[in-house]
Amino acid sequence: MQLHVLNNLTRTLEPFQPINKEEVRVYSCGPTVYNSVHIGNLRSFLAADMIQRVLRTVGGYAVKWVMNVTDIDDKTIRDSAIGADTWIAEEMGEQTRDVMQNLKSLTDYYTRKFVQDIEKVRIQTHNMAEMPRATSYIQEMQNLVSRIAENGFAYESGGSIYFNVSKWSETGRYGQLRKIDFDNFRSGVRIDADEYDREQVSDFALWKGKKDDEPFWEFEFQGRSVPGRPGWHLECSAMEREILGLPFDVHTGGVDLKFPHHEDEIAQSEAGYGVKPTTYWMHNEFLEVEGKKMSKSLGNFYKLDDLIEKGVDPLDVRYLMNSVQYSTKLNFTFAGIEASKKARLRVQEYIYTLYDDGDGTHVVDAQELVTSVFAELAQDINTPKALGVLFGWLNAHPAATIATESRQHVLDALAKINEVFDVWTIEPRPAVEIPADIVELAERRKTARATRDWAEADKMRDALQAAGWVCKDTKDGYELTKL
Ligand code: AMP
Ligand code: ZN
Repeated sequence: MQLHVLNNLTRTLEPFQPINKEEVRVYSCGPTVYNSVHIGNLRSFLAADMIQRVLRTVGGYAVKWVMNVTDIDDKTIRDSAIGADTWIAEEMGEQTRDVMQNLKSLTDYYTRKFVQDIEKVRIQTHNMAEMPRATSYIQEMQNLVSRIAENGFAYESGGSIYFNVSKWSETGRYGQLRKIDFDNFRSGVRIDADEYDREQVSDFALWKGKKDDEPFWEFEFQGRSVPGRPGWHLECSAMEREILGLPFDVHTGGVDLKFPHHEDEIAQSEAGYGVKPTTYWMHNEFLEVEGKKMSKSLGNFYKLDDLIEKGVDPLDVRYLMNSVQYSTKLNFTFAGIEASKKARLRVQEYIYTLYDDGDGTHVVDAQELVTSVFAELAQDINTPKALGVLFGWLNAHPAATIATESRQHVLDALAKINEVFDVWTIEPRPAVEIPADIVELAERRKTARATRDWAEADKMRDALQAAGWVCKDTKDGYELTKL
């Protein structure tokens, strides 16, 4: 099916046309592994997961999907520094005096945690061609810095190497994702921080000079030794080229990454390799809490495990995130989680009912269901509309009324839809596990009835009821159902 996507480079909905029809290449900005991700971050990774699923299932493409892990930046260095809180030692074993080892311990620990978290919400890690760690691509990053410098767009100052934004902006190619106010540009002012806002347009660090006891790599730059470490933007530019080749098809990330991260990625790639990084830039909107971005710095965040502890099913988190389009803001509430659970279980119940014995006579066209749901997903991953179409169809075709010969077709259709949503199980209703003490009460009731001890039988029935079970007599004995 022909897909359309909102391309933030052109700010228009465009027909999706891959560079190579045989394989669509997607790069997603992943987590910075200095801590556990919160569910705001998860929204971004879930959006990427939906994009690659729709490309595969609805678009019919083979997809090479890569999500990076930032394991060297300002925050990972800060939190792995010697003398940091004792939790480092507690969580990851002995802390050493080797800063590189401490960085590795911290980032290994949180990378593992990240994979566990995203697998709980069924992000398809098995569909990732690679989850590259920045520290494995230092050589490629250094090569890119050298190329940018050879082309005249980088310079060294005070032991660090900067991207010359004022010179690059003369090409008219700075400000592709976001309009830049060059009146505010402060020529000669340099920014070392990885994160900065629009008002701070100035030269950014490609390579940050070694500081006292920070982790560093040797770097021969224009015949001189410039030990240090890569800037965050440089990392993605080098890894995406190395792993996917340039240009690739889709680059994903949160809206906050448009500037400076993605704008700087474009600048580095074009100034160094002479090639734009990607065709389509797709950005997810924020998960908010009372009108504010969920973020570590505001302290208004939940981690997935916090929610699980409160009894939330990760599948309801997945459902909630897809109940709005990825490019629309979503306000997080527990009422929203509850509503998601209700909606999700309605479909699950429908699936179970299709497996039950039935005497329905309604012959249906299940293919039409798949086509109409996929048609909505094909329009910029419009998950809420797709769910709307699904519910409309299910309401119009109650499971119990569906003819036996159509049931497998409907189950196949729901399985196909579930390849994208992945919040249901296409299986018969699981048999309820009945605890042994409940079975014993029911057996005693059966014996009492057989011996016509009605008082004892009533006592057993009341005991079962008090424990939350109903005992119904059948021709073969009894049937227990949970209240
Ligand atoms: P970070 O680890 O801070 O680099 O963030 C990882 C990803 O999460 C980036 O793509 C961010 O844009 C995204 N992100 C951070 N906070 C939120 C939020 N509240 N809602 C949606 N995406 C977010
Ligand atoms: Zn990135």
